[in-house]
Amino acid sequence: MGLWFTEKQTENFGITAKVNRTHHTEQTDFQKLDMVETAEWGNMLLLDDMVMTTEKDEFVYHEMVAHVPLFTHPNPKKVLVVGGGDGGVIREILKHPSVEKAVLVDIDGKVMEYSKKYLPTIAGKLSDPRVEVRVADGFVHIAKSKKAYDVIMVDSTEPVGPAVNLFTKGFYAGIANALKDDGLFVAQTDNPWFKSDLIRQVFQDVAEIFPVTRLYTANIPTYPSGLWTFTLGSKIHDPLKVKEERFFDIETKYYTKDLHFASFVLPKFVKDLTDK
Ligand code: SAM
Repeated sequence: MGLWFTEKQTENFGITAKVNRTHHTEQTDFQKLDMVETAEWGNMLLLDDMVMTTEKDEFVYHEMVAHVPLFTHPNPKKVLVVGGGDGGVIREILKHPSVEKAVLVDIDGKVMEYSKKYLPTIAGKLSDPRVEVRVADGFVHIAKSKKAYDVIMVDSTEPVGPAVNLFTKGFYAGIANALKDDGLFVAQTDNPWFKSDLIRQVFQDVAEIFPVTRLYTANIPTYPSGLWTFTLGSKIHDPLKVKEERFFDIETKYYTKDLHFASFVLPKFVKDLTDK
């Protein structure tokens, strides 16, 4: 029989994975943290019984959160990740030579600690000299930051528990203040099959704050429905108008220059979520 982990994505639907062993399990000050070895996806980080990242498909999410906004900005130097304690987005950010400083603000130090131990291919760059890791509430860090960042990425858990505030209009307004005059941000905004209301509300809120607001998608097999969305808000730079010469060769397994543009071509039922 063996051990199987099941994530209920809705009341009536979920995914299940065969578990070889449990490396670590604990209730932290903020959430339930499990690190397991699965037969299909390698080591897997779970928070509050939801898949956060797996060794086999993590590259999709981390490349799309990092490279779409970083290639959209003409010269990103100072970058912030809110959440992202597994270190995957940081790894991708450091592939951009223009980046001088990457700050990661995650509320739960245990995520970084156990990701370094059991997800070294994902968390291995957290100790890079260009990286500053802070254990703090991202909502508070953003509220205290003024014109500090070129690009901000919100790699948070879903809008439950410690991350509820990270999906509010007040937070997005705070992000606008924390960005420099030509700054931009991206946030993971869940899936269109089970969370269409969230996507519609976030897109509307961001569009009321940022002149350029766009939605893009990626296929992430271990995430609810497998189709994930990202909402991008920008003060000036448009991801659909990135010049040819801005792109340079970068080591990736999902992101490409063509996909950068194609990821904004949305199926009708998803595009409809962006209509006023
Ligand atoms: N890629 C995953 C996803 O899309 O579901 C998220 C991965 S990352 C591990 C999520 C991180 O957000 C967790 O480490 C969690 O501690 C952090 N987080 C949740 N609420 C936060 C907050 N208010 N401030 C900073 N980090 C927060």
